Amino acid sequence: MKHLPRVLIVEDEPAIAELIAVNLRHGGFEPVVAQDSVTAQRELDAVLPDVILLDWMLPGQSGLSLARHWRKQERTMAIPILMLTARGDESDKIAGLDAGADDYITKPFSTQEMLARIRAVLRRRAPQPLGDCVTVGDLVLDAGTHRISFKNQELKLGPTEFKLLYFFMTHTERVHSRSNLLDKVWGDHVFIEERTVDVHVKRLREALGAAGAMVETVRGAGYRLTVMPVLAAAQSGG
Ligand code: CA
Repeated sequence: MKHLPRVLIVEDEPAIAELIAVNLRHGGFEPVVAQDSVTAQRELDAVLPDVILLDWMLPGQSGLSLARHWRKQERTMAIPILMLTARGDESDKIAGLDAGADDYITKPFSTQEMLARIRAVLRRRAPQPLGDCVTVGDLVLDAGTHRISFKNQELKLGPTEFKLLYFFMTHTERVHSRSNLLDKVWGDHVFIEERTVDVHVKRLREALGAAGAMVETVRGAGYRLTVMPVLAAAQSGG
């Protein structure tokens, strides 16, 4: 039997959870519903899902703090998280992405949009066709084992940051516009705003630590990975 992508739905409203589950089942996914954070954690401890749909507003621990928690755990850090939110605010969206979500869906959303976004994060997560090692300066990325190191120190990256870094490392010293990055890294940017790129670049820099300076902001143009970072904070927009 074919393995169906497993989607963990963390949503406290039974009617909404059930509606999502039905639609996912029709869309070729295997949905699992958890109505609170404790049940969600139990599900994660038992079987890792391919994607987590996480409601922002939950009783007890909020979706935001759950996302933050799961991103820090070795076992769950690479699972794409889609936040479900009734909040359309730009600052809230950024807060969700900053907490570790890969994307967000604003309620009310259409089934088609939800399925498209889930497929998009799964595609992003899909392993690179090539299993090679890329080296830029002291930065080494092994696409086969998904390991990244800087000066022989292993670094931990989320799935989107990994793909973004892979693209940068295979296209160094060139400036990439936000829309080009959406095309090349996200691949399916119908629903994704350019601001999302900035958030993931920020997260990538943070995850890279000392190597973060290699990812340069080129004002008005986009981003570039360089082996020789210009040590001019003035040049960097963030
Ligand atoms: Ca809720």
